[in-house]
Amino acid sequence: MKKLLLLLAIPALLILGGCTKLASKPEVVTTFEPMYEFTKAIVGDKVKVENIVPASQEVHEFEPSAKQVATMTNAQALIYNSADLEKWALKVKNDGVKIEASKDVDKIQGDPHTWISPKQAIVEVNTIAEALGKAFPDDKATFEKNAANYVAKLKKLDAEFDTLKDAKQKTFITQHEAFAYLARDYGMNEIAIAGLDPEVEPTAATLAKLKGEMEKAGLKNVYFEGNANSKIAETLAKSVGANLIGINTVEGISDAQKKEGATYLTLMEENLKALQQTIK
Ligand SMILES: [Zn+2]
Repeated sequence: MKKLLLLLAIPALLILGGCTKLASKPEVVTTFEPMYEFTKAIVGDKVKVENIVPASQEVHEFEPSAKQVATMTNAQALIYNSADLEKWALKVKNDGVKIEASKDVDKIQGDPHTWISPKQAIVEVNTIAEALGKAFPDDKATFEKNAANYVAKLKKLDAEFDTLKDAKQKTFITQHEAFAYLARDYGMNEIAIAGLDPEVEPTAATLAKLKGEMEKAGLKNVYFEGNANSKIAETLAKSVGANLIGINTVEGISDAQKKEGATYLTLMEENLKALQQTIK
C-alpha cells in the first residue's frame, strides 16, 4: 500500500513542481528600489514582482547582467523611472508593456530624480497603476484601490513637505544634484557639489566657488549621502567648518537600513527632518 501511495504521489509532485516553476517567474519587473516599492504597493500579492538593481547598489552606474536582461525581456510589464536614468531598461525589447513611471511628470531637462519629490511620486504611482490595470485587466479594481491607499500616504508626506515653504533659509547644499524636483516643488533652492551623476567629481575651482557661496549665505550644513561618493561633501564641510547631515536619495537602501524596516516613506520622513534642521 505504501508503495502504491508513493507511486501515486510522484506525478502529483511533478505537477506541483511544474506549477511552482511557472509561478516563480516574475510577471512584472522593476528597475530600482522606488519603482519596486511603488509597484508592490499597487499590486500587493496579485502578481509577482522582481527588482533588478540590488537595493544596496548605486543605480547611476548600474549595468544589468545577461540573465537580468532575459528576465526583463520575458516580463509582462517592465517598469522604469526615466529615459535619463535606466538607459539599459530602454534598450530591452520586452515581450510585454514598458512603463515609464515619470512620463506625466513636468520634467527638469535631463534630470531623472523625480521620485524624490512626494508630489511627483504621486504622479508616478498613478501612472504605474493605470498602465498595470491595462496589462492585467482582471486585477484592475484591486490595483486602483491599493494605489489610492498608497497615494493617501504620499499626500500626507506631501503636506508635511509643504511646511518647508515657510522657511526663512531656503538654500541647502547637497552631495549630488538629486533634489531639484523636491526644491522646485517645495520652494527651496538646492546647491549641489557634484552633478546629476554622483561619480563625476567637481573641480577645485567649483569647490572654491561653493565655499564662497556657503560663507556668503551663512550656510552651516552640508547634506551627504553616506556612500562611496561622500568624500567630496566631507571635504567641503570640513573646509568651511560646516556640519554634515545625512540625506537619502532613495536610489537604494542599505542592508542595515532594510533590517530596520526602511522604506521610501520612512526615508522621506527622515529627509524632511534633516532638511528642517537647516531651514529652522
Ligand atoms: Zn542621483
